[in-house]
Order: sequence, then structure tokens, then C-alpha cells
Amino acid sequence: MNDLSPRASLLETVRLSRGLTQTALAEVSGLSQGTLSKVETGLLDLDPERWAAVADALGVPVEAFLEARATIVPARVFHRKKKSTPKGALTKIAADAALMQQRADAILGHARSELRRHDLEEGFVTPQEVAQDVRSELRLGQAPISDLIATVEAAGVTVLRWPLESVQVDAIATWPAEGRPVVLVGEHVPAERQRFTIAHELGHAVMHNDAGGDEQERQADAFAGEFLLPGRKLRVEWPADPSLETLLPLKRRWKISLAALIRRAQDEALIDDRTYREWSIRLSTSGMHRREPDPIPTEQPQALMRTIAAALDGGTTIDQLARKAHMLPQEFSSTFMEEHA
Ligand SMILES: [Zn+2]
Repeated sequence: MNDLSPRASLLETVRLSRGLTQTALAEVSGLSQGTLSKVETGLLDLDPERWAAVADALGVPVEAFLEARATIVPARVFHRKKKSTPKGALTKIAADAALMQQRADAILGHARSELRRHDLEEGFVTPQEVAQDVRSELRLGQAPISDLIATVEAAGVTVLRWPLESVQVDAIATWPAEGRPVVLVGEHVPAERQRFTIAHELGHAVMHNDAGGDEQERQADAFAGEFLLPGRKLRVEWPADPSLETLLPLKRRWKISLAALIRRAQDEALIDDRTYREWSIRLSTSGMHRREPDPIPTEQPQALMRTIAAALDGGTTIDQLARKAHMLPQEFSSTFMEEHA
């Protein structure tokens, strides 16, 4: 894969991101499937005219191909495996994430993330210890994280809300060897769950090299729990008369849902399994599970929009910004400048 030319890798990635097979793209572009296959595997390059036909069919400016400099690394995608999730749909969002990584770099400037990777395989490190390491890398101490998205964006992580409901995935993360981690979080994910979801993906990004396995899911959950609410703080702040009601101040302070909070308490052995089950049942039978009291405010990604707004204020046009990101102006606007529900 590493020998692939930037153009070849871009072609495959954009095609997959558009949800097209080679045959479908052949039909729209007027090139044969065999030709496209050869281009994608690096056996053949095209003349500018035929690149223009391909770019046109894919809805990207031809410069995207002609000026492609960096080979796109396939995204490592972590997600909760759902048997019903079609593989093609996951391939598409993996391509979305890989493209987004390049586009974010083009808009924000290439930056190394402040985060570093922690290989769980090599040491005797627990996800909780990794979470504490990342907390200190980000200089968070043991304090509540008031805005998680702002915090990870400041550390060089790109976060975007993304339509993921159809693939039944809450979020995906990718972190190519070069460049910044990208987290796409589902637009359907409620505020109540969004912070935990993003922290979970951050855990994957820093701890895991390959996608897969229930064990990794447990590790990412353990990371997220400790990252959002360190165990030692939870033990100190745990109320003397614990109940779903007396936990609400903790929920407000740490911005963690009651559902996640009681799971956290069970992990830290503050409540026994029976209490955990009883409280879980109460959360769901009382309807609190769907709508918890004291809802957590929704956090919005800001970094890309703020950079774009500043560029527009400085006299740069949307066309110029779109060209820089190798996108058509319309897609650029709908991706980065419109509020996603
Ligand atoms: Zn996961």
C-alpha cells in the first residue's frame, strides 16, 4: 500500500467515500472499470483530461488529483461491532475519515498532535494509567473537563459530527502515523452520551494499533471512565448516602451521565453488582434512561469553523479555502460551515 501514488490512493478513497464501486464510477466517468482498477493499483496513470472526467464524476476539483502530494493512509477504524452493520457502509466511513484527516490538515495546517501513543501490548499498563498519562499530557490535573471537544481540539484532534446513524455506529476514530487524530461522532448521539463516546474513541486512538475485539472495547471504556472522572476523585466525592438523586451534583460537576456514573461506581467497587443492577433498572423503567435529569449541554466542534471564519474575515474566499482543501465550494460549505443537527 505504501508504494501507491498519492493519486491512486486518493482515487480509491474518494470513490469509497462516495459509496461507488469501480463499475459505478466507470459508468459515470466514461472510463472503463479495467482502467480505473489499473489506476487505483498504481499500474496506470491518466492524462489530465481523463483525470478531469474522473474528478467531475466524483464531485471534486481536478486539482485534488493533479496536486495530490501525500498518499492517503487507510483509516484504522474502531467501532462497536454490530452484526447488522454492512461492511460497505463501514468502508465508506473509513474513507470519509481518511479524507477528513487530509482536509483538516489542509485547513488547519499540518500539525502534530500533542498526544502520544501508548502501546498497551508492550507494557503492563492499564487503560486507567494511560488515561492518567493523557490527562497529564493535556495538563488537566484531576479536574473536571468543562468542554471535552475544546480540550481535544486544542491537543490537535479533529472532531466532526457526522451522519453515522445508518451504519449504527456512535463514532469512529482514526490516527494515521503522520498527522492528527480524527474523531467522527454520530450526529444522532445524544449530548448525554457524546462526551463518553468521544473519550472512548480517544482511548482507541492512543492505545490501539488495529481495529478489533471486545477486549479493545472494554479498554476504551475503561480509558473513557478514568479520563472523564478519575477514580480517586470519584471515591473522594462519592456521597455518604448514595442514590440516583444524591449523585446528581456529581453528574453536573463532571458532566457524565447517571448511566455512565453508576457503571463507573461499579468499576471502582463503590456499589455492588446488585445495587448497580437495581439502579440501572430504575433508570430505564422511570424513563430517566432516555431523558436523564440535569441534562448535559451539547458540545460542538469549533476548531475548523473558527479557523475558516478567521480566514473569511481576513479576506480569503470560500472558493479559495475549498480549493486548498481540494473540495468543490458547495461540499466545503455543507461540510464545514453548516450547523449539523
Ligand atoms: Zn470502540
